Amino acid sequence: MAKKGKILEVDIENKKIRIEREPNWIQVGKAVFNRENLKAGEFIEYEIKGANFDFKRKLEDKPDFNNKKDNYGNKFGNSQAKSNLSKPTVKEMYYPYNFVSLGNPETIKKEREEGRSEEYKNKQRYSGKLVCTLTNLTPIFTSGNKKEDGIKNHFKEEFLYGNGKYIIPASTLKGEIRNIIEVITTSCIKNVSDERLEKRETESLKSIGLIRRKPTDETSGLIVEADRIKINRENVLAKLKEFSFQDRKGKINLKEGFYKIKVNSKIRNYIFKDKNSPKIDDLKIYEDCCNGNEEAILWISSNIQNKRYEKILIPRKNGRTFQFSKQDYEDLTYLISQRKKREEKAGNSKFYLKEIEENEPVILKEENGKINLTFSEFPRLRFKLSPYDLIPEPFRACSNKDKLCFACKLFGTTGNDNAQDTETKMNSLAGKIYFSDLILEKAIENEFFDITLKPLGEPHPSMTSFYLKNGSYNDENATIRGRKFYWHHSDKIKAGKNYKIYEKSIVSEKKEKFNSTIRALKPGNKFNFEISFKNLTDEELGVLIYALELEEDLLHKVGKAKALGFGSSKITIEEFFLNSEEKYSNFFNPYINGDKQKFISIIKEKYLNLNRKEIKELKIILKNTNNLDFSKSPFPEVTNKKGELNSLNWFIKMKKDYEENFILPEITDY
Ligand SMILES: [Zn+2]
Repeated sequence: MAKKGKILEVDIENKKIRIEREPNWIQVGKAVFNRENLKAGEFIEYEIKGANFDFKRKLEDKPDFNNKKDNYGNKFGNSQAKSNLSKPTVKEMYYPYNFVSLGNPETIKKEREEGRSEEYKNKQRYSGKLVCTLTNLTPIFTSGNKKEDGIKNHFKEEFLYGNGKYIIPASTLKGEIRNIIEVITTSCIKNVSDERLEKRETESLKSIGLIRRKPTDETSGLIVEADRIKINRENVLAKLKEFSFQDRKGKINLKEGFYKIKVNSKIRNYIFKDKNSPKIDDLKIYEDCCNGNEEAILWISSNIQNKRYEKILIPRKNGRTFQFSKQDYEDLTYLISQRKKREEKAGNSKFYLKEIEENEPVILKEENGKINLTFSEFPRLRFKLSPYDLIPEPFRACSNKDKLCFACKLFGTTGNDNAQDTETKMNSLAGKIYFSDLILEKAIENEFFDITLKPLGEPHPSMTSFYLKNGSYNDENATIRGRKFYWHHSDKIKAGKNYKIYEKSIVSEKKEKFNSTIRALKPGNKFNFEISFKNLTDEELGVLIYALELEEDLLHKVGKAKALGFGSSKITIEEFFLNSEEKYSNFFNPYINGDKQKFISIIKEKYLNLNRKEIKELKIILKNTNNLDFSKSPFPEVTNKKGELNSLNWFIKMKKDYEENFILPEITDY
């Protein structure tokens, strides 16, 4: 079948080209090469049959890649425009993280089989240790003791301290190194949640209805559409005894809940008078239209952010009806229970809702013929699929201890928590490498500084357009984009010890619930640690050494506040010891010195091939410099009408301006 693709590079001398998403350089026939004058950046149609490249034609424009599969069988990325709307520029999209592609699913399948082969079992093995240092080039922080700091729910976090030393725990660095090794060796993905996510809507939902019939296993439920009119809390409801009460401090509060009330036909005049936002603002109007014999529901919900209105719902004459399933109803009940939990956490033990019964209101959103029910106009909705559901099958966590991916063989596994049934659940398997904690070499107190950081949380807990290719968590065709990595902030690396220059761009003016004050370590400090290993093959040892030292201009990112530019670090292997053959006979010198380069050269060809998209992406995102400008703020921010500058406003604006084209570019786009 003919494919379409972009030429990334042309090797004129050897008449070879590299096409986006093709794993290898492609040899072009001499006649075609001389005739077509192929250039990087051009789009072509072509076919690959075995080892032969069959050139079809040049394409005028970028083809529509949507819903086509790449040569790995994965769905194409989202960076292709879906509509005629313009796309955000890379400059607008300086987001702190991005995703490295998962790689070729055939590679992980092969690796899992090879682990069982005699050849793998009989390979020469190496044991020994690596004595290393880690130097932080930007501030670094790992979280130790925390205590409330002046303001309720605002915490001051100390740098982790144990046994008289400042430390970075072994598990923190191990996680970072494993992440990198997973990319290099096309390994499985660990610890992706199988909880279905919720998202917060930013636009008010249009449809509201009343449940007429609850669903059962056999029959669907029924909702009838309703008209709504807002009713003023302070000027109307607070003056009506049946809906309000006076608390101990003498303040008038409203009683949350659903109330059956009677209205007359005049209320429709008020609704039609102001089609966009009908409201009842004074008691006289309420008395005028809220008596009669038509049934309606007054809905008083929680008083969040001092809102001014509640609402009355009246079944619409000749309105639409909606059917919904038992699963839809259970999702709604789940959302209510999650909200109740959040309310309890915030100290409100009496959230008014448990389940929504017949003749009570729901808010609904239709999406691709599916219905999402909720109970708030700016609600959280529950997605139909979990992130785990969207990992392409070959990359799901290893579930058979005889068939492990490269990373699981090396690091071991903590068991497959994501396996759906207990049959395939795997007991944890010990790894072959052991990290020590990282210990700060010279603990000088004035090398630490206190800083109140901007909130690290994302404005949207589940930015589907960022985490997924092709659609949302409601869409079975969607897949996760890959493994998450944070960009280095070149301005901060360049500043070196002089962190005061950029301090302002990451500091929060106020101490709040949403941010914290931390005691971070200044740039330019050194930690000592060791990694001991046993029974590694030459490839496993080579990959480990490479993943630690990387390359001259590539850096690690370790610890907390990565989004704010913290934790950019360089690891150096100071000493490399291999167990000597006569370990037991020579008590004083059990080790010999190993040769790092020898092991790296073994893996170079197989694992660090830049023709692999994910290797190219990894090297770009680990690089100490890049095209992203984080010097003003770590997150893109926009000022809204009220003059508030924040990241949520940026999301709202971008979503409005670009609609479905508001997607995170791929790493190679930067
Ligand atoms: Zn694995």
